Amino acid sequence: MQNSRSGEAKAPYSDPLNDVVDLPTMTTGALNALGQDEDGFSVMIEGGAIDWAGHGNNPVRDIEETQDFNKSVDAAIKWVEENSSWEDTLLVVTADHETGYLSGANEVPTEDNPEADNRFNAMEGEKGKVARHGWYSGQHTNQLVPFFFKGAGSEDIMARTSGTDSVRGEYIDNTLVANLVFDEWWNDGTDSAGDPEQPGDTANPSDGEGKDGSSKGFAAGLATGLGILGAVVGGLGFLATQMGVLTIDLQPIYEQLKRMGLR
Ligand SMILES: [Zn+2]
Repeated sequence: MQNSRSGEAKAPYSDPLNDVVDLPTMTTGALNALGQDEDGFSVMIEGGAIDWAGHGNNPVRDIEETQDFNKSVDAAIKWVEENSSWEDTLLVVTADHETGYLSGANEVPTEDNPEADNRFNAMEGEKGKVARHGWYSGQHTNQLVPFFFKGAGSEDIMARTSGTDSVRGEYIDNTLVANLVFDEWWNDGTDSAGDPEQPGDTANPSDGEGKDGSSKGFAAGLATGLGILGAVVGGLGFLATQMGVLTIDLQPIYEQLKRMGLR
């Protein structure tokens, strides 16, 4: 929420911050308020200013907003562990798209860099400094995005993986995730909640099992309280060690690219 403040953005945090409350504080506040509902809840928390920094091709603001986002994920994890449990609660961390085609430096030839040969370059640099990089778009892009999850219903997500990419590992179509939320978790695997006695409804609405026999863990969490679905937008690295991971182990990617002669 600091993206639009004035300043030269020469280095992360070099400009005075504005007075907008940070995302981890808003995250904890939202969870504390919604967590009082004994029926459980679903919430989407977005680090939306990461997208603005991407449109602006602004690496300094991008780092600031992504670090703010990372702290909000920490806050959500802490809230779950102190107020609920991973048996009752699902946390999803993903992005709806990438913005700016952020990648390594000098990948595309320009007047300044006619030598660039359209090959992938890793973002590299020294600790404490902005990595060498390039922005290759001002818009939303079709780059694959990470999809992290942990908690109740994880096995339902794993059951929906579409296939395995030789470089990125298992992947999932994001529309399948939406269908999982609406069809299986929100409606507990039954038809529209507004008409539970529909004559044509042959699914058993009260057995708690999904249509395909999948786990009822998350639906049970929603029914008994303390369910959370946080689909949080942004990119992050540290979570790879803490949560279920479908993609994102960069080393094999680099090695594969090397074998393919792209690096
Ligand atoms: Zn956008």
